[in-house]
Amino acid sequence: MSDDKKLTLSGRTTLGVGKGVETGQVRQNFSHGRSKAVVVERKKKRILTKGGAAAGSTPAETKPVAPKQTKSFTPKKPASPSGTTLTDAEMEKRAKVLGEAKIRAEAEAKEKAALEAKRAKEEAERKMREAAEAAARSEEDNARAKAEADAKKKAEAAAKQKAEAEAEKRLAEQKAAKEKAEAEAKKKADLEARAVQLRKASEARQASGGGDAQREERKGKPKRAKDRKNQNNNEQQNRRGRGGDDRRKGGRLSISNVGGEERQRSLASYKRMQAKKMGLAGNAGPSQPKQSREITVPEAISVQDLANRMAEKATSVLKTLMKLGVIATINETLDQDTAELVIEEFGHTAKRVSEADVEIGLVGEDDREEDLSPRAPIVTVMGHVDHGKTSLLDALRKANVVSGEAGGITQHIGAYQVAIDKDNKITFLDTPGHAAFTQMRARGASVTDIVVLVVAGDDGVMPQTIEAINHAKAAGVPLIVAINKMDREGANPDRVRQELLQHEVVVETFQGDTQEVEVSAITGMGLDKLKEALGLQAEILELKANPDRAAEGVVVEAKLDKGRGPVATVLVQRGTLKIGDIFVAGAEWGKVRALINDKGAQVKEAGPSVPVEVLGLNGTPGAGDDFAVVENEARAREVTAYRQDQALKKRQAAMAAPKTLESIFSKIKDDEGTQYFDVVLKGDVQGSVEAITQALQKAGNDDIQCRVIHGAVGGITETDIALAQASNALIMGFNVRPSRQAREAAETEGVTIKYYSIIYDLIDEVKAAMIGQLGPEFKENVIGQADIKEAFTAGKAGKAAGCFVIEGSIRRDCKARILRDDVIIYEGEINNLRRFKDDVNEVRSGQDCGMTFENYHDFRAGDVVEVYELLEVERKL
Ligand code: GDP
Repeated sequence: MSDDKKLTLSGRTTLGVGKGVETGQVRQNFSHGRSKAVVVERKKKRILTKGGAAAGSTPAETKPVAPKQTKSFTPKKPASPSGTTLTDAEMEKRAKVLGEAKIRAEAEAKEKAALEAKRAKEEAERKMREAAEAAARSEEDNARAKAEADAKKKAEAAAKQKAEAEAEKRLAEQKAAKEKAEAEAKKKADLEARAVQLRKASEARQASGGGDAQREERKGKPKRAKDRKNQNNNEQQNRRGRGGDDRRKGGRLSISNVGGEERQRSLASYKRMQAKKMGLAGNAGPSQPKQSREITVPEAISVQDLANRMAEKATSVLKTLMKLGVIATINETLDQDTAELVIEEFGHTAKRVSEADVEIGLVGEDDREEDLSPRAPIVTVMGHVDHGKTSLLDALRKANVVSGEAGGITQHIGAYQVAIDKDNKITFLDTPGHAAFTQMRARGASVTDIVVLVVAGDDGVMPQTIEAINHAKAAGVPLIVAINKMDREGANPDRVRQELLQHEVVVETFQGDTQEVEVSAITGMGLDKLKEALGLQAEILELKANPDRAAEGVVVEAKLDKGRGPVATVLVQRGTLKIGDIFVAGAEWGKVRALINDKGAQVKEAGPSVPVEVLGLNGTPGAGDDFAVVENEARAREVTAYRQDQALKKRQAAMAAPKTLESIFSKIKDDEGTQYFDVVLKGDVQGSVEAITQALQKAGNDDIQCRVIHGAVGGITETDIALAQASNALIMGFNVRPSRQAREAAETEGVTIKYYSIIYDLIDEVKAAMIGQLGPEFKENVIGQADIKEAFTAGKAGKAAGCFVIEGSIRRDCKARILRDDVIIYEGEINNLRRFKDDVNEVRSGQDCGMTFENYHDFRAGDVVEVYELLEVERKL
């Protein structure tokens, strides 16, 4: 094919030039871009040849052209203008000149001819060369094409052969398989047939007749089927015969080539069919109602995350957002409202969660009554400095060791347990004093069940004793008074009882409900009684906890140990803490690596009220931080991340905004209708503290009351801050200032401290704050009354009332109500007030006026308009 094409093209070239020669003109003919006919043409023109073989003929015809015979120059006698003849000399001269010219011309012509011939020769040679080259090329091409074609043919042949071979192989395999199957089937059929025959034979033996016919039928059936099969095969063969080209087909259609066999479905075809079926089933999917899911939406969610949660494509979410008018990118964060709209748009329901929800479930559900078991009371020892708190704790502990309770040196881990008897124990918090107590409470940990108030018998009630009483009261924890140092001579327990009475602590001796025990930490006197009293109090409190659950509790103490890393003493409040548990403690988390009890022994678990040191924390939590075992590390990380974030925000907020009295309104408690304004009062002298306390207590009324939860002499301490924080109270300093630590604590915890030096200022400000909390009080003042004489339509405004002012005056800026038979039918504002046709601001009694009311037209003649103003009156306490 390609050969032909090439030949045709060169043929065309020949024809083009040939034509030019015929007409005596060499036409410029571009073929293959090889021709240089331009030169040839020009030359032809210049030599003025006539019909001669022109230069520049086709390469095939080109021959070296001989110098052309130019037309000889015949000197013409020029016609004399005058007609006179020339002289001989002249003639001769002329002839000579002419001869010379002729010779010259001839020489020139010869030269030209030679040049032309040379050029033509060159041209011819070049063309020949080109032609030869072209021929060579075409031959090469031919050869290549041929080679390619051959290779292709060979490859095709090989492929065909291979395909055929494969087909044959497959065929053979299938045939073999089929034969095998057939053979098996035949064998089986034979066996069956034989079995049937045998059965029939036996039946026949029993009863002759129909059996033969049945046998005939049985035999007949396969025969007929076989006949049909053969027929089919014949037909197929015939069809192939007609088609003529069956050999190739035969190679492909292997199965149809199986003589006398039925065509089988290939495995691929079967698979395709299955896929189709599946596909159909899949397609049927969307027509089914789409599953509506509940999607959890946090306060902020990225488009990608939202798409993932809905199991939708992010692009569809973006499209939906666009429909809602929000152009977003995949990583953009959406707020809860937008996310909810998108979720609804997809037909799901949104479940809003806030960041704080991360805490949900951290503290488990309440336990059922039947799961509870009694637990040891947790006791804190409080009292004035040097009254013997530490000595008492030591004495109790020592007594415990002496009594042989699982021995060893007692470790100071922040809490320890003491046995009352075989079954009962008491857990003492090892950090005495109300500072630790209140600090823990300020952190929300009300871990203490009972407070032992230590009062030295020889010293009596002292400022810190009172503080301790107030702290315990604020926490609502029962007291047991331990009158200490009873071994001393100057000890006077009755004086202590009396002094306690002044602070509303009524001991049992005085028919009160506070147990008191006389003890001596040095001699050990009364320690058993104290334990008994504690046991009794615990019984009254009915302290119980469920030990069979994930542990929850409080961090009692925490430190960073050089060797062991962060260590926290935990008091389990419910559940049982085990090694391997993952837990959250405040803003830290960890995995329990080891548990060490108060005797320094490693234990495997710790139940309710059992203090235990926990190793395996990632950071050091704070005393009073809550503690809870969580299901996994991810949850622990989630909670601690949130808490750390919150703590940071709180610190930033506390730094940013100084608190005012007004801003703590929200802290005011609401208890059975009466609101409380709690104050921690610190003063320079007892007298002023007492005076202020009394004045504040009187300042309240039925709606609101001021409570001084702690009033004492002295500077403002960290303990005061903790108490105020724990009780949502305000700290008032009268001629006192806070310590540096207290000021810092107040700043971080966001506790307000107000300073005063004049009692009345203090009282007034508290009153003002309480009034502010109750809100403003208004009094109504009636200014005037008017009778509606007539109701008439008044343009677009609707209806206007024609009135006569009977009392006072009617003012437009006032509120109005309409009365019908002394019943209020409308309350609102006057829109327009007119006297004749002028808008006026006031109409006095005895005058007519017209008025319209805001959004009200249903008045009629006989109604009364009452105009009044609301005056804010100062609330008094
Ligand atoms: P804390 O500041 O309340 O912890 O008091 P301490 O326990 O440190 O005791 C202060 C001082 O009182 C120490 O010197 C003790 O020895 C002493 N002390 C404590 N309890 C008793 C006691 O029952 N009898 C006597 N005589 N001295 C005691």
